[in-house]
Amino acid sequence: MLLVMDQKATPEEIAAVVAAVEARGYSARPIPGGERVAIGILNNKGPVDALLFLGLPGVRDAIPVTRPYKLVSREFKPEDTVVQVGDLSIGSGALTIIAGPCAIESESQALTIAEQVKRKGAHLFRGGAFKPRTSPYSFQGLGEEGLKILARVRETTGMPVVTEVMDLETFDLVEQYADVIQIGTRNMQNFSLLKRAGRAQKPVLLKRGMAATIDEWLMAAEYILEGGNLNVILCERGVRTFVHHSRNTLDLSAVPVVRKESHLPIIIDPSHAAGRRDQVIPLSRASVAVGAHGLMVEVHHAPDMALSDGSQSLYPDQFERLCRQVNSIYEVFK
Ligand code: PEP
Ligand code: MN
Repeated sequence: MLLVMDQKATPEEIAAVVAAVEARGYSARPIPGGERVAIGILNNKGPVDALLFLGLPGVRDAIPVTRPYKLVSREFKPEDTVVQVGDLSIGSGALTIIAGPCAIESESQALTIAEQVKRKGAHLFRGGAFKPRTSPYSFQGLGEEGLKILARVRETTGMPVVTEVMDLETFDLVEQYADVIQIGTRNMQNFSLLKRAGRAQKPVLLKRGMAATIDEWLMAAEYILEGGNLNVILCERGVRTFVHHSRNTLDLSAVPVVRKESHLPIIIDPSHAAGRRDQVIPLSRASVAVGAHGLMVEVHHAPDMALSDGSQSLYPDQFERLCRQVNSIYEVFK
């Protein structure tokens, strides 16, 4: 249930409603909106009796929340969430483009790619320092050294950096360096990681599990918001299907569904969906046309030499073409 406060409700009235909700054994979560505050009632085992609260001073309306996810739902917060990363506003205004290699391999590799993608249209730089790899024999990432390189990329180019956190042990370290913390597909239901992300001071980019339903994905995001971190960006990266022509199948329909169900921004990662460079530009165009707030794309200056995901990484020139095309499409639908 969501208690909608009057536009003129005072802080004392809001505090009194919170106290009344908590006195019933529920938790109360005030959610500041553009015009008025709403108070979410959480931890109720069954239906909540609206009449308990409707008579309190300052309470204007009580709206039942029908979805299993509460804080992430549009019922709870009708207006779009805009995630602020430095000067960038993700989820409103302009299309956000995140680009960089799959993994940070060396300082010169990261700086070379960062300078190119910045020049060609990227707003944030991505690169893994801790890499979740299917094989223990594959390159696992540079770890802390990779994070230090990311910090140098930020200093040199001014671009905020996105990097993945894989486990609780390295969470503090990653949080220290990242501007946006990525949680990968394999960890979407790692509940202890999600709880820790809920206490993080940085925005979280939550990728969809490769076999997760949209409800499961939104419930995973709910863990992060419930923990107190409201800055979550969802990222569709393709789901497992029976096809062999691509690594995964990009679920474009997730975009309108998520935008209807949730106020959180949603971006698309066409690189991991496709697994092959030749599909990345067409899928990016479609992603923007279907309403994604942004893209996250793998780019490498020498993909043949890449230590991971070279075959899906775009050449810088292709990335430039991608930016040009998706920005035009975005303008059409704005
Ligand atoms: C990545 O972004 O490099 C990555 C490992 O992605 P995913 O978790 O979607 O496989
Ligand atoms: Mn990758």
